[in-house]
Amino acid sequence: MSLKYDLIIKNAAVIDGTGAKTYNADVAILDDKITAIGSLNEFESRRLIDASGFVLAPGFIDVHTHDDTNVIRTPNMLSKISQGVTSVIVGNCGISASPVTLGGDPPDPMNLLGGRQDFIYPTFKHYVAAVEQVQPRVNVAALVGHTALRSNHLKDIFQPASESEIAVMSEQLNQAMSQGALGLSSGLAYASAKQAPMAEVKALVKELAKHNGIYSTHMRTEFDAIIDAMNEAFETAEYGKVPLIISHLKCAGAGNWGRTTETLTLLEEKSKTQKVACDCYPYSASSSTLDLKQVTSDFDIYITWSDSEPDMAGKLLAEIAELWNLSLIDAAKRLQPAGAVYHGLHPDDVKRVLKYKHTMIGSDGLPNDPHPHPRLWGTFPRVLGFYSREEALFELPEAVHKMTGLSASEYHLANRGEIQIGNYADLVLFNAKTIRDKATFEDPIQKSLGIEKVWVNGQLSYHKGQITETRHGRFLRRVQQ
Ligand SMILES: [Zn+2]
Repeated sequence: MSLKYDLIIKNAAVIDGTGAKTYNADVAILDDKITAIGSLNEFESRRLIDASGFVLAPGFIDVHTHDDTNVIRTPNMLSKISQGVTSVIVGNCGISASPVTLGGDPPDPMNLLGGRQDFIYPTFKHYVAAVEQVQPRVNVAALVGHTALRSNHLKDIFQPASESEIAVMSEQLNQAMSQGALGLSSGLAYASAKQAPMAEVKALVKELAKHNGIYSTHMRTEFDAIIDAMNEAFETAEYGKVPLIISHLKCAGAGNWGRTTETLTLLEEKSKTQKVACDCYPYSASSSTLDLKQVTSDFDIYITWSDSEPDMAGKLLAEIAELWNLSLIDAAKRLQPAGAVYHGLHPDDVKRVLKYKHTMIGSDGLPNDPHPHPRLWGTFPRVLGFYSREEALFELPEAVHKMTGLSASEYHLANRGEIQIGNYADLVLFNAKTIRDKATFEDPIQKSLGIEKVWVNGQLSYHKGQITETRHGRFLRRVQQ
């Protein structure tokens, strides 16, 4: 008997996303699903690909992105599809494109997502409809930002929310959750959310439980008081009885280097009694808006953009300060609003966090930055090429698990992240010997090497460095329970 498939990928080295060892098999696709795995010699298909010498893995899931408005404005998403990414999770760090109604310009750091004209989704439903209408090249799932809710409803964003403001934020969060949001994110380190006491966040997180939601947090600090900040995150999630995801776990600041031994021990301890995980990008430099509190002479701070002094983009803060004959902090003030890359992490800390069993890979890339941190274009191939192949930090199946199966499971993305019969055919074919990130701090907008083909929902979407004609991404709503 011969069965007709749309596509058979033959002789692939399959890494299935579960963390299990590589095995050789043929994988068949019909419509948008994986429909057979094994030796499929006697079967017919409309198309056949010989994948000898290549690894076939589930499409990568970028769990930490700020692609909220970009999936609509630049739907080809070349920065992500060229890395083998087939799904992005937006709405991280307390900032989301929806539900948002602005009274003026977006407050820092919502300005990372775009300008006033880009915030045109007063409800989550509007955002979903816009994504579905444009159909980006990658799948999209979304968190609701705490800072976005504050910006919608607080008289003064630099104050704690009042009882009545918490009530309207809760109502709006509930509405977004019922329209398919994955959960709530916070960005408590930023001035626009810093005044929110734990009680304010707890009240919102409590609303998530009935929706099977997730709480993800860019913690109050990643510097000296990081343990306090972690304990706040654990307590907040525990109060709502929801899973916790700590965003871009790191130990920032020279005085803090080496302390991931401490933070990971705490995380491991907590993981025995509550559901916790974290994400991490594979670089020892961070990036965000230029934060006066982070200005230091301990390490290089590179200015990526400045609205008030655009000519200074591309220079080190120290150079600019010297040029203007100002202190670092006064130069930073004059550059506001601005973006920066901070070379303030220790490579050993990055390795330790990447290796940790509950760590997922997330790029935290900033797509609207004219000179972005290279993580935007390089994160996933860098984990596979540099950290797995060259540094031997982990075997390839473990590296792939951190960007596929683990991610789908933590974020409740149904039928994705693993090569299994019946799952959606989000797939990437890559060369394990040559896969490598090319984006650098000097030259960050560069496609990675070694990504051969990428399929999204069963359709070829990227091939040998080029996007295909059509796009096939979908909006991924939270799974109802
Ligand atoms: Zn963040």
